[in-house]
Amino acid sequence: MSEIPEFHNLVGGDRVPARSGRTFESVNPADRADVVGVFPRSGAEDVSDAVAAACRALPGWRRTPQPARADVIRRAAQLLRDRKEELARLMTREMGKVLVEARGDVQEAVDMADYMAGEGRRPSGETVPSELTDKVCFTWREPIGVVGLITPWNFPIAIPSWKLFPALVAGNAIVLKPAEDTPLCAARLVETLIDAGLPPGVVNVVHGIGEEAGAALVDHPDVRAISFTGSGEVGRLVAERCGQQLKRVSLELGGKNALVVLDDADLELAVDGAVWAAFGTTGQRCTAASRMIVHERVLGDFTELLRSRAERLRVGDGLREDVEVGPIINERQLRRVHSYTEVGVDEGARLVTGGAVLEQGDLANGHFYAPTIFADVLPGMRIAQEEIFGPTVSVIAAGSLDEALAHANSTAYGLSLAVYTRDVGRAFRAMRELQAGIVYVNAPTIGAEIQLPFGGIKSTGNGHREAGTTALEQFSEWKTVYVDYSGRLQRAQIDT
Ligand code: NAD
Repeated sequence: MSEIPEFHNLVGGDRVPARSGRTFESVNPADRADVVGVFPRSGAEDVSDAVAAACRALPGWRRTPQPARADVIRRAAQLLRDRKEELARLMTREMGKVLVEARGDVQEAVDMADYMAGEGRRPSGETVPSELTDKVCFTWREPIGVVGLITPWNFPIAIPSWKLFPALVAGNAIVLKPAEDTPLCAARLVETLIDAGLPPGVVNVVHGIGEEAGAALVDHPDVRAISFTGSGEVGRLVAERCGQQLKRVSLELGGKNALVVLDDADLELAVDGAVWAAFGTTGQRCTAASRMIVHERVLGDFTELLRSRAERLRVGDGLREDVEVGPIINERQLRRVHSYTEVGVDEGARLVTGGAVLEQGDLANGHFYAPTIFADVLPGMRIAQEEIFGPTVSVIAAGSLDEALAHANSTAYGLSLAVYTRDVGRAFRAMRELQAGIVYVNAPTIGAEIQLPFGGIKSTGNGHREAGTTALEQFSEWKTVYVDYSGRLQRAQIDT
């Protein structure tokens, strides 16, 4: 067997191991015997080193003209294009999503880099009229300082890119703590920035476990903002710690997204959307649809079509071009997904298909789960309320548009909801009434484009948005400037 490569943290431009010398492994979820690499299991002292490096790099990067900062990002975009296939293959190996989706994940980073490079030359403030004569008022954006980025494994290149590129164009210095399941994808993404000419220390990478390296980053007093994407459970902890320090925090958390399929919908189109939204990325997307809320008149046909499509999906190693559904990320998550099948059965839902760990033949060495459908699900059941983060979907009946919308809105989450209808009035009612940051009409719950705001309401986050120009809000402060050239004291609200 070939030797397992060892990787390091990136601190101030240097590759360094954890001070403790401790390590952890990144393992291929389709084949447990395939260890992708060994990474530093960093602690608070390693985080401190990285934050100190970022503090040193900050003044120079902050003073670099914004178009010049954008030039680095533009060059990184080109490198990502050049390396797209290599990165996609690495991603499939490291976290399992099928190759065609892994290419899409890298493309999202290319798109984000192109977009944020463009922001380098766009105006970032306003000139506003003054109520007094010979007085000029304007605003500009300033970087926050050193920001900490904490990212999940399910979009291991796209999500770090959603944070890195806007944070960089805005002039911040960064410490990134990527997910422990996908450290190499994040390291390779950052390498494109280094190869594009980013000065040392502007982006630092500290690998490690969430409760150790992640928590130390959140707690570090010199880190002025945290941008976190991950589970609601951890997001709450992170928000509490940031709240104690009055530290800015943006949270992108879980979802329990739904497709509403009305009785006038194009049923084939709705089933195409349902298969993609429920089983794409093995259901491991924050925007995956795990609930199908279907009008009673088409419920039988819809469920049958969905079942037959789900049973034909090819499950396996995503590096094989004919595979449609890859593995679950790790053993712990596989067990969790299966435990929800038991919950569904205990709650009285009807298991239509799936519900089993797949271990036969080639699947024996990985974490595979059969695409799973429950019917006769009531909206209040746990399988219809809690994020499972796997290929498990609940079909819920609704007797009317109002009932369908109420079911769709009945969870704690509010990320992405979709409606299938051919009636323009019902479509607009749904657009207005659905409680989510993102709504789709006649398209599934996944398919966000990077030039629009991305994020959710209710327990999916704390009001911030990624992507679009809204991403810059997370990573900059507004400064308001008043210039009085009248040569005398003018009092606002009084001398008007
Ligand atoms: P997770 O919350 O377990 O981990 C996310 C990151 O937080 C990892 O880097 C982890 O190491 C770190 N972390 C863990 N404990 C920490 C702590 N105590 N302090 C600081 N950092 C800590 O999530 P995951 O399993 O990696 O990702 C799946 C979750 O992410 C799902 O809930 C999914 O819906 C969500 N997600 C949301 C979006 C979105 O944009 N809304 C996008 C993708 C994923």
